[in-house]
Amino acid sequence: MQRDITTLKEHTFDLLVIGGGIYGACVAWDAALRGLSVALVDKGDFGGETSANSLKIIHGGLRYIQDANPWLVTLMSQERSTWLKIAPHLVHPLPCVLPTDQSLSRNRFTMATALSVNDFLSMNRNAELDEHRQLPRGRILSREECLSRIPALAHVPMTGAILWRDAQMVNSERLLLSFVLGANERGAVLANYVAITRLLTEGNRVIGAAARDLLTGETFPITARLVINCTGVWTDELLATLPHIQPHPRFHRSVACNLVTRQLWDDVAAGVPGHFAGTDTEGYPLKRGRTLFITPWQRCSIIGTFHAHFAGPPENYRPEPELIQSWLDEINHAIPTAHLTLADVYHIQRGYLPAAPQEGRADTVQLVRESQLHDHAQEEGLAGLLTIVGVKYTTARYTAEKAVDLAYQKLNYPFVAGRTSHNPLWGGDMESFARFMIETVADRPARLRREQMIHLVHSYGTTYKTILAYLDEEPRWQQPVTVRSDVMAAEIIHAVRCEMAQTLLDVLLRRTELGVAGLPDEAALWRCAHLMAGELGWDDQQCQEEVVAAYLYYCHLNPLLDPTALPEPPIDKVNHEIYA
Ligand SMILES: Cc1cc2nc3c(=O)[nH]c(=O)nc-3n(C[C@H](O)[C@H](O)[C@H](O)COP(=O)(O)OP(=O)(O)OC[C@H]3O[C@@H](n4cnc5c(N)ncnc54)[C@H](O)[C@@H]3O)c2cc1C
Repeated sequence: MQRDITTLKEHTFDLLVIGGGIYGACVAWDAALRGLSVALVDKGDFGGETSANSLKIIHGGLRYIQDANPWLVTLMSQERSTWLKIAPHLVHPLPCVLPTDQSLSRNRFTMATALSVNDFLSMNRNAELDEHRQLPRGRILSREECLSRIPALAHVPMTGAILWRDAQMVNSERLLLSFVLGANERGAVLANYVAITRLLTEGNRVIGAAARDLLTGETFPITARLVINCTGVWTDELLATLPHIQPHPRFHRSVACNLVTRQLWDDVAAGVPGHFAGTDTEGYPLKRGRTLFITPWQRCSIIGTFHAHFAGPPENYRPEPELIQSWLDEINHAIPTAHLTLADVYHIQRGYLPAAPQEGRADTVQLVRESQLHDHAQEEGLAGLLTIVGVKYTTARYTAEKAVDLAYQKLNYPFVAGRTSHNPLWGGDMESFARFMIETVADRPARLRREQMIHLVHSYGTTYKTILAYLDEEPRWQQPVTVRSDVMAAEIIHAVRCEMAQTLLDVLLRRTELGVAGLPDEAALWRCAHLMAGELGWDDQQCQEEVVAAYLYYCHLNPLLDPTALPEPPIDKVNHEIYA
């Protein structure tokens, strides 16, 4: 997959997709799979903004039972099954528990009823899943059963818990990239680091967009019969470049954060009541606030989600240490055995979500519940433009399918049905993930450790052999880039040559898992930079700049890191050779 600026400039596309978050990536894949000519650009790297932040949960519908919205419950359940099916190497079933108590909304009877309704509405959930990935019915656990699974909940006031299965993305960045790689294989023309500066119009029709290549500074137009705006919380900024559209906000911007911490427990996610407002005489919370979700992932825990209103420029938000400490206090109060301190915080995820206008208490954020698809021809009389406002990673594939269905109408082309609900994603074409893993690990080349092979299958699925092929060119690329990870040097080379990685952060955060759970060690930073330098022709100065930029990125998100303690460059030539 290569940046193709020349074709972007010269071709008129059926669709120009602006924004390569999960919604834009899904639109590009869906449209390319149906045979449309597609261009996709992002002002940063694919998946570098909100889509990079999540609890990694593909939600079934249980949480929407309380909204009394059976359609949404069914949709979420269908999508959970779809993700498990199309990306079996990257999405796996995840057991989840939620304590029951004596309140009206969370007592055992209410929760048992909710589980039954959820099971009924998701009765087809296993229809196309292989035998190892079936999602059993939800069930009620006694307090003892719950504690035998998660002893750390011992001090949480509860009468028992419910247990159900959602799904977890082991690597949401590679999942997003799989859509992009698949779209590119089907002919989509793509470029990261291309910003759209304004939409271009002819009369009452959008005919494309003015673009700037942020790597070279070149500006050029991209023309298309239809533009789909998938710019997430930048939607209003892009629409404001059109004189035809009244500048009114389509949603309010809120910020959402998760903490990535020392692992509290493994294997099962749990929701516990946060926001303590005291307890009654029997120890049950007096007032229910948000539910904190603790998700085991990558030998860490992801804990969240903490929401706030934030109208400023997205890049400016930074939680101060006092705020992080208050989140830790809330977690430690909810789970007294956690004993989390600032030193246990490895990383802070920060992303932006559409919210309803702020009313009442400033600390209450009402998120937009369902994704929106705007047809500007209908809403404002401006043809050639659709806008998606996405609210969940889970629903991105579905919303994209609806958008491309509508695109066919707008383009006046004979309709072709979407195939993304059953076509395997890049690397996902396997009958049974469990069998594929066992057989691949058993047949691995003698030089590869078992853990390395498991890592490759999880990251690349059926395409893992493309990584192994690099070892014929340079056997040393089999070495992990750091002792703390199974990521091999060959993966860095592949990211640059075939996955459009341009910066060190692209590799650390979105092509490999080296930096997804926090700042990688210095060896990983320098070794990756030197491997990339060999491919991209960076000199020592550029290498150093990349390492410093990566380090400062982590410092910006995590105020607990010291921005003056920059990583030291390797001291001598011998080291330099080792790193490369
Ligand atoms: C902390 C947190 C936890 C979450 N947890 C979950 C979860 O567990 N499960 C779940 O289903 N969902 C979760 N979500 C929600 C989910 O992450 C988002 O709904 C989803 O990622 C939004 O995707 P998007 O493509 O709309 O936006 P984005 O990922 O922000 O993509 C928009 C893209 O547009 C690009 N762009 C903007 N302007 C321009 C321009 N002018 N030119 C070119 N490109 C442009 C941006 O660079 C960006 O890459 C969570 C969100 C957060 C913040």
